[in-house]
Formats: sequence, structure tokens, C-alpha cells
Amino acid sequence: MRHFDAIIIGTGQAGPSLAARFAAAGKTVAIIERKKFGGTCVNTGCIPTKTLVASAYAMHVARRGGEYGFCIGDMRVDIKRIKARKDAASARSRTGVEEWLRGTRNCTVIQGHARFQSKNTVAVNDEVLEADKIYINVGGRASVPDMPGIHDVPFLNNSSMMDIDFLPGHLVVVGGSYVGLEFAQIYRRFGSEVTVVEMGPRLIGREDEDISQAVLEILQAEDIHIRLNAKCISLAKHNGGVAVGLACEEGSPEAVGTHVLLAVGRSPNTNDLGLERAGIATDHRGYIIVDDQLQTNVPGVWALGDCNGHGAFTHTSYNDYEIVADNLFNADHRRISDRIQAYALYIDPPLGRCGMTDAEIRKSGHRALIAKYPMSKVTRAYEKAETQGFIKIFVDADTKQILGAAILGTGGDEVIHVLLDVMYAKAPYTVIQRAMHIHPTVAEFLPTILGKLEPFA
Ligand SMILES: Cc1cc2nc3c(=O)[nH]c(=O)nc-3n(C[C@H](O)[C@H](O)[C@H](O)COP(=O)(O)OP(=O)(O)OC[C@H]3O[C@@H](n4cnc5c(N)ncnc54)[C@H](O)[C@@H]3O)c2cc1C
Repeated sequence: MRHFDAIIIGTGQAGPSLAARFAAAGKTVAIIERKKFGGTCVNTGCIPTKTLVASAYAMHVARRGGEYGFCIGDMRVDIKRIKARKDAASARSRTGVEEWLRGTRNCTVIQGHARFQSKNTVAVNDEVLEADKIYINVGGRASVPDMPGIHDVPFLNNSSMMDIDFLPGHLVVVGGSYVGLEFAQIYRRFGSEVTVVEMGPRLIGREDEDISQAVLEILQAEDIHIRLNAKCISLAKHNGGVAVGLACEEGSPEAVGTHVLLAVGRSPNTNDLGLERAGIATDHRGYIIVDDQLQTNVPGVWALGDCNGHGAFTHTSYNDYEIVADNLFNADHRRISDRIQAYALYIDPPLGRCGMTDAEIRKSGHRALIAKYPMSKVTRAYEKAETQGFIKIFVDADTKQILGAAILGTGGDEVIHVLLDVMYAKAPYTVIQRAMHIHPTVAEFLPTILGKLEPFA
């Protein structure tokens, strides 16, 4: 049996950096990957989708050429070339991760499916490996809901969407949340008819109502059909395509399309990991239970990234790595409870979010102030002819610290970091008002907006 100082299962957003850190410290480490190096973000998540978002954005701007003063004539989409561009972006990162790991001294790379044999041993291929410390970074996969007709109709998910090299005539997206909305706008801009079917009464139901409403209007302005309150979703074959049963309160009881994309959440890859043999506890949804420093209930075993249920983003997984590594190698006792929620929704314009939502602030009992400002009044947005959306900032009336913010608008995914960093500094919002910002930018309006704070009722 080969012995290592550490075994890492999965090469997602935490595993490779952790392996390199162990190796750099002169420790022996084995890292195991069953599929593609780099995991979800690199192969079927952030990188390929944001590459598609960029192609879709370029087409959108080209279509609006008349507004900017140019004309490009007949425009046609070439999905095969778009796919090739996306594939190249993923391959670049995937190869980078693999070459990095294989070229790292003290690091043994093993391809195969890992399963716990005991709390300190893992079986992979025909071998059993042993380690003092084991780190689980197995990520998740698209959930397959148990809905009527699910076995009768071929459906797409975020992984199989990566393989299509044709334009769906009419894509029905089941799920009006982050993943579904990005694909909906991408394919609408490529030229597909698109219908989004959402069970809840509004899109991205975890966001504030005004954000859901603004996103709905942005998508509807591009002729994306939105069906809300789809209480009883079912699938059936229909003339070579698919009919999605809705039982909606209003409108036709079904949405008929050529293809259906299921984007109804994700499940952790923990059901085939032999966790029971190691005695590692999960919650009722299969997420591995961890403490504030990512350790499981079994001493010597940690879980990082999407599989622990404490984040569903590349940056939360990478932050998990930083927390584990700093605790282990730097005696810096970082914790997951120290981090501030932050993420983006990459429709166009993007939504950048940090800190608490409207509902969370109400629940928290903070005496809050709010400032809200339309993007149409932001000069940079006007110059770019991208005036959809708004900026909303919440501040604690007593401490003057920022509680949360949403920037739905051009540059929102970048500008949000101005507010996020001030939150990490635990500084009052007034420091932003004393900073000299660059003109013309969206960020230069933050001091003006903060000057309009009023009580949040
Ligand atoms: C469509 C889509 C778009 C997204 N866009 C964004 C975005 O823009 N920004 C963002 O921050 N996040 C985004 N995400 C989320 C992000 O991709 C994930 O949160 C992130 O990749 C999670 O990383 P991870 O480290 O937890 O694991 P993963 O990246 O999922 O990697 C886990 C790895 O473990 C391997 N593995 C699993 N089980 C085993 C086993 N038993 N043995 C060996 N290997 C195993 C898997 O093959 C995989 O390679 C997106 C997700 C999707 C689906």
C-alpha cells in the first residue's frame, strides 16, 4: 500500500492548489481525478459558459449596430466556430491544470474513481492508497428531477450543452435561476427561440424582488418567453421535439420546443465515494458536513468546494483551499464564517452581488439605510448605450458599514468589488465618498449614490 502525507480527491478549484501547497512544503501528495482535469468550472461551468456569453454579447452588439452608427449587413451565427472557441478556452485551462500537477515534484497524479476504504485509505483503480490527511474536492453535477416524462424525452443539462454544435430551433429551459438564465440569453442571442419555465412566482427567487423583476424585463425585451408559476412540470415527446407541461396559472398549459435544457439545481458527487466506510457524515441532500475550518466529523478528513454545501462557486471553492492551507501551513486560523457572500449572474448586463439581500437585512434586525440609482443616470452606461438595471446599496445606520449591494448593469460584476473590499476592511461607506474615482466609470457614481441614502423601511 502506497503511503502519502495527503490524498486529494478531485481536481476542481481547491484540490490542485492544495496539492501544490503540500508539494511545496516537501510533503508527498496524491491527487486523484476521475474525469477531466479542472472539474466543473473549467470543463462545463464558468469558463465555457462565459466564453459563450462573450460570443452572444458580440452578436447582440452587432445587431444593434444602427444605434452605434454602423451597419454590418447580413449576420449569421456559426455555432461550430463558437463551439471551437469555447472548447479552446476550456482546453487551455484543463491542460494547464494537468501539466501543472504532473510537473509538480512530490505530487503523484492518478486518474480513476476514488472510493474511501476506511478513514485513512482510498481505493483507486486496483490500488489502495493511505494518507495521514485526506481532502475531498469532488464537486457536483446537474440534478435530474423526478418529474413525469423524464425518462421518455432526451434532455440537455449544463454538461451536454457543451457538446452541441447546432442551433436549437426552440430551446425550452426548465429552471429560471442562474445557470438557466445564462443559457437562455446566450441561445436567444445566437438566434434560437427560447422559453424559460420556472416553478416559482419569479425568476432567481433568492434575489430581491426588484432584481427578479428587472431581470425578467431584460430577458423579455430580447423576446425570451418566460413562464412563471409552472407548478407541475412534465416532459413529453411532441412532433420530433418536446412539450413541457406547465400547469401555469395563465397562458398555454405547455411550452413546445425542439430541445429542453434542465437547469434545476445541482447535487454533490458524494453518493459513490464510499463515505459510509470512513464514517463521514452528510446532510439529507448529500452535502458533506464540515466545521468552520472545513474539517468533516472524521478527524484528518476535510471537504472543500461545492460538495460541502457552503458555496456553489469557483471562488468559494478556492477560498476553501485558502482557509485549509492557511490553517495548516501558516497558523492563520481563517474560517468560512469570515467570508462575505459575493457572486455574479452573467446575463447581460451582469448582476454583481455582495453581502446581504433585502430579505436578509429585514430578518437581521439591522437599522439599515438604502440608496438605489438607475443605470440610465450613470454617464458611462449612457455612453455605452447600456442603461438597463440599477445599483442598490444597503448600509448600517449605526456603524456606517455596508451591509449588502446589488449592481445590475454594465460592469456590475467588476464594480461590486469596490463595495466588497470596503466591507472586508470593515470601513464605513464614507471612505468611498472621500476617494477620487476615475472618470468616466460606473464606479465613479458610487459616492453620489451613497449620498442619497435614506431609511430602509
Ligand atoms: C453552467 C455553470 C456555470 C457556472 N458559472 C460560474 C461562474 O461564472 N462563476 C463561478 O464562480 N461559478 C460558476 N459555476 C460554479 C462552479 O463551476 C463550481 O462552483 C466550481 O467549479 C466548483 O468547484 P469544486 O472545486 O467544488 O469542484 P468541481 O470543479 O466540480 O470538481 C470536482 C472534480 O472532482 C472529480 N471527482 C468527483 N468524484 C470523484 C471521485 N470519486 N474520484 C475522483 N475524482 C472525482 C470530478 O470529476 C471533478 O473533476 C458554474 C457552474 C455551472 C454548472
